[in-house]
Amino acid sequence: MSRAHNFSAGPAVLPLEVLSELAEALPNFQNTGLGLMELSHRSPTFDAVIQSAKSRLRSLLNVPEDYEILFLQGGASMQFYMTALNFLLPNDTADYIDTGTWSTKAIKEAKRVAPVRTIWQPENGVFTAVPTQNEIQENEDAVYLHYTSNNTIYGTQFHNVPETTKPLIADLSSDICSRPIDVSKHQVIYAGAQKNLGPSGVTAVILSPWAVQRSREVNSIRKEGLPSMLNYGLMVDKDSMFNTPNTFGIFALERVLAWVERQGGLGDVALQNKRKAELLYSELDASEFWKPHADRRSRSQMNVTWKSANPDLDSVFLAEADKQMLKGLKGHRSVGGIRASIYNACPLDSVEALVAFMQDFRQKH
Ligand code: PMP
Repeated sequence: MSRAHNFSAGPAVLPLEVLSELAEALPNFQNTGLGLMELSHRSPTFDAVIQSAKSRLRSLLNVPEDYEILFLQGGASMQFYMTALNFLLPNDTADYIDTGTWSTKAIKEAKRVAPVRTIWQPENGVFTAVPTQNEIQENEDAVYLHYTSNNTIYGTQFHNVPETTKPLIADLSSDICSRPIDVSKHQVIYAGAQKNLGPSGVTAVILSPWAVQRSREVNSIRKEGLPSMLNYGLMVDKDSMFNTPNTFGIFALERVLAWVERQGGLGDVALQNKRKAELLYSELDASEFWKPHADRRSRSQMNVTWKSANPDLDSVFLAEADKQMLKGLKGHRSVGGIRASIYNACPLDSVEALVAFMQDFRQKH
């Protein structure tokens, strides 16, 4: 079987070992005689899976013991609204850092709940960087500060957790588990699974005791209470199983986390990710042939974005790359150009193949 080099931004490449484990589990899961997608979510067999997924995520990310871990549906996009709904009453406000499309969408959804404020966005409207610490000025009355750790579309990334006195909420959709992070500095972390954790349809949500408490307060103050499916407190009480969860997705996520452990954990994975990103950026910096999108200090190690200096060449690049089985390289429609997403499961040899192709393309053109 020949697999392409997959640079898709998400759903993204998964480890082949995990795909084999999934294939094996589909018709007969752990010799139960029942297929993975045919098992009751209330069975002890599935309970062991979800508990294992939680405990692997807890230990990999070093999630404090008193934090809760949920696996929800609705994607990170549902979290844009759910975070605001659970923590804000109509007269409250919160601070948002706007580093691109996904932050902008988070702000839009939060505004349905309360008048939240954008405290930083690029002056020229072009998302090529994340703010420095000095540029982040929180408002006294903000209930929380929200940021997007890695901007999938623009290829920019925070390299430090923003310092704040406010409860911190982070969208980690495109860099969760790509490097160690101090979870204890956050009150909420959420991430759609389809980049570094598994297939789409599962969203990991990590909640501090503050977050759970605040959700319960808001639920009790709101006249009709929070809608059940959007109520963190209820999801915690029901251990992510208020309704039928994405059983397949949670098993896949559990297997991806076991694979991350076999890679040596987040320290080793981060080193490998750094190596892959450096290889690619060093080709981008080697000549004037390429125009990297992100400012140097904000460069993402997960999504690398650039254009050819000659704009006519981008489409040629993409077409030729495709023929070489280098797939998923088209930049997001809002930015254009080229984007290579090099998440955990993207092997070093895929990045080496891409860089070799780029060098060859540069010589030829
Ligand atoms: N946040 C970020 C940083 C993303 O990259 C994405 C998806 N690409 C989303 C949020 C939206 O995720 P979902 O499709 O799971 O709603």
